[in-house]
Amino acid sequence: MPRKPKRPCSYPGCPELTEGQYCAKHRKEEYQKYNHFKRDEFSKRFYNSPQWQRLRKQKIAINPLCEYCAREGKVTPATVVDHIVPIKEGGAALDINNLQSLCKSCHDSKTAREDGRWGNKKI
Ligand SMILES: [Zn+2]
Ligand SMILES: [Zn+2]
Repeated sequence: MPRKPKRPCSYPGCPELTEGQYCAKHRKEEYQKYNHFKRDEFSKRFYNSPQWQRLRKQKIAINPLCEYCAREGKVTPATVVDHIVPIKEGGAALDINNLQSLCKSCHDSKTAREDGRWGNKKI
């Protein structure tokens, strides 16, 4: 069987020869970039959907205060409705039981923790 000729990796400036489009290292990088893009596209569409907007309003009406701050005895108006189990980790997207009301600062620190856990740097 004749082997496929090797070509240089399509990543700009990478000298590795490969049988595919990218060398092993850049194949992984491109794949991760692609996944990241897909996820961003999905969440943009999801958070703009009328179903989500409706559920979000419902949740804020039930819990108008930040639930994290409340645990520490602080009273802070909630501005963000967050998924307790993130959608990307398989959490139910449109289940009110998977939602919590948070203020922006609690939401930001939760997101930072999650991103750290996932080993993802924002591109
Ligand atoms: Zn490469
Ligand atoms: Zn808070």
